[in-house]
Amino acid sequence: MLSLAPSGATAYLGAQFPLTRDAMLLVGLTGNIGSGKSTVAQLLSERGATIIDADVLSRRAVETGTDAHRAIAGRWGTSVLSADGTLDRAALRRLVFSDPAELEQLNAIVHPEVERMRAELVERARQRGDRVVVCDIPLLFEKRITDRFDRIVLVDAPRPMRLERLVRERGLKETEAMDMIVAQMPAELKRARADVVIDNDATLTALDQRVGEVWDALQAAADTMEGAGV
Ligand code: ATP
Repeated sequence: MLSLAPSGATAYLGAQFPLTRDAMLLVGLTGNIGSGKSTVAQLLSERGATIIDADVLSRRAVETGTDAHRAIAGRWGTSVLSADGTLDRAALRRLVFSDPAELEQLNAIVHPEVERMRAELVERARQRGDRVVVCDIPLLFEKRITDRFDRIVLVDAPRPMRLERLVRERGLKETEAMDMIVAQMPAELKRARADVVIDNDATLTALDQRVGEVWDALQAAADTMEGAGV
């Protein structure tokens, strides 16, 4: 999938995530569709991590009354709006999914706003003194923003398992789920560059246990940063 935030947004975010950080560990959590990253985010949140969810931010970015909502309605018209004027995200997704140019236009509207909100929330967490802040970002690798984080955690599961989960748990049509899976950068490439890989190929109990181990390691890393005085 394409990553299309304009370089201006990248420069802006660079300023928001300075190299010298307080004793806060900034973690990028990612994984391909159906891998289980939302489940992992939830499990980390239960252990005390601050979660900043890109999906939540992208929904907020296009709420009625926002600049992005106006821009999208202006570009794609009423076919992407529900009767009450809110954005029909599913209709919009269907419209742009198979057309890279349209997807690029949509991303150029939504991504800078999402990045702005994320930077703001990270800053607020830093000021609160939060220790481990996890940004759940599905397109972390595609957007080439890995270097903004202290640790990259990748959640992965075999493709057939992801397909089955999406169909069974999400109610997606099998062909629809397949299309979404093949459109993404292969997980093998991401595994090579992640600091931590969570293999979500067994039960939820096993996942919970693995997340516990990862949480301990993240906390230890946050402690080390503090000890080093950075
Ligand atoms: P998306 O990219 O679409 O947001 P995701 O990577 O966030 O997906 P989840 O929503 O966490 O994935 O998981 C997809 C579905 O699979 C969910 O319904 C979740 O409850 C289920 N699931 C996740 N892990 C497991 C597991 N180990 N065993 C059984 N079901 C699981």
